[in-house]
Amino acid sequence: MNRPLFDMHAPSAPELVPDQLAAAAAGGCHAGDDHFCRAAETSGQSELLERFAADYPVGPHDRPQTMCPAFGSLRIGLRMRRTASVLCGSACCVYGLSFTSHFYGAKRSVGYVPFDSETLVTGKLFEDLREAVEQLADPEQYDAIVVINLCVPTASGVPLRLLPPSINGVRVIGIDVPGFGVPTHAEAKDVLCGAMLKRARSEAETGPVQAPRGGRSEKPTITLLGEMFPADPVGIGMLLDPLGLAAGPVVPTREWRELYGAFDCAAVAAIHPYYSRSIQEFEQAGRPIIGSAPVGHDGTEAWLTAVGEACHIKADQIAAAKNAVLPAIRGALSGAPIKGTITVSGYEGSELLVARLLVESGAQVPYVGTATGRTRWSDADREWLEAQGVTVRFRASLEQDKSAVDAIKPDLAIGTTPVVQHAKEQCIPALYFTNLISARPLIGVAGAGSLAQVINAALASQARFDRMNAFFQGVGTGATAGVWSSLPPVLASTTSQAATGGAR
Ligand code: SF4
Repeated sequence: MNRPLFDMHAPSAPELVPDQLAAAAAGGCHAGDDHFCRAAETSGQSELLERFAADYPVGPHDRPQTMCPAFGSLRIGLRMRRTASVLCGSACCVYGLSFTSHFYGAKRSVGYVPFDSETLVTGKLFEDLREAVEQLADPEQYDAIVVINLCVPTASGVPLRLLPPSINGVRVIGIDVPGFGVPTHAEAKDVLCGAMLKRARSEAETGPVQAPRGGRSEKPTITLLGEMFPADPVGIGMLLDPLGLAAGPVVPTREWRELYGAFDCAAVAAIHPYYSRSIQEFEQAGRPIIGSAPVGHDGTEAWLTAVGEACHIKADQIAAAKNAVLPAIRGALSGAPIKGTITVSGYEGSELLVARLLVESGAQVPYVGTATGRTRWSDADREWLEAQGVTVRFRASLEQDKSAVDAIKPDLAIGTTPVVQHAKEQCIPALYFTNLISARPLIGVAGAGSLAQVINAALASQARFDRMNAFFQGVGTGATAGVWSSLPPVLASTTSQAATGGAR
């Protein structure tokens, strides 16, 4: 028998929610948060909305301006060994997410449990989801199945928390990742990591758990929070070695057992400061958290001090660790200077770290915008940048990023696709943050010189931009845009000649 969904928390919901959902679903991301939020509140999801507001505060930008936020969670799940990912949402959303994940090289299937108005409203959708995870739950293949509620099922209150916590020993992790509660795909990564860490923590607290694949480190470890270039954890390990410490797992992890290793640490380095829920889990486990990252000279000095103090390392050993690396970083920075004015914007959460490195390399950086929210773990980077005269904007909207480019007219704009397009239209060299900046080391000595090559090449391309601009001047604008409000003169005269018999 079909079980009505909406009687669980809100007796009046069945009459109210379908209309609101229909309005919201029809507009998708563009329907505005209000429709979805009202539907979510009506279906008993107020607590969920309050938690989103606390963990990922919004304003001024409070709705997705980039890809669907759920992509962050999906991507983390697809990268984990022995993990299945199942989406529940509107077909168009799932199509986009599935396309994007395969565009970015996912080598696994994306599961999908479709719905229609009837299965959504009657509760049959929940039964379909449960059936899907039961069919998938093969312990030979999987450690975990991640089920992701997109906007419409979240707003309607499809209760993933009522799925069995595990089936045949395969964990079932249900998360709500709506665009009206999770502002960026970066923060959606945290939603899944936080849910997995929560489960792993409760497992570790109740009994023995699997050791890491390579065994436990002989030294105390520092867990690294945030995706980073593959060489960066190695670089961090080299920085930690003189302190008698080692780099621990990177969260998001690549397999379930690494989650236990992440808790088995001396401290957690929030390299990316927006992992609010993950940090809450580590704090619950009593692990100290360290903000910022070892980028550039000043960043590395402050970070080594913070790590050393958090791990109760003697002052002279901390000083020795700094002496072992800081001169080399200073040398790398001065050996690869960057001259020019650069604006930085992005949605990865590492924008402030990149800006620090640019400033220490000699660049003028008047503006840094990040779509991620401000947390106390970003304070050190913000304060350092502001002391250098940099304007730092959290939850920066696309309009603010573009306005910064217009007002500053930098020699180079680093940004998201639309910001780069906007800059290039004005003949300003521009680099994509995600493809070209995030794909380089930032940490320690390797990071100190790595940005200069790509940045200086881009800065040197101004003459090429000027030539292209002159060559294509006027193409694609006005009468050459391919859209005319009236017949172009040449066609008008041909038409008039044809009407009058034409001239030969
Ligand atoms: S699930 Fe993603 S794509 Fe679909 S409406 Fe929500 S934010 Fe937009």
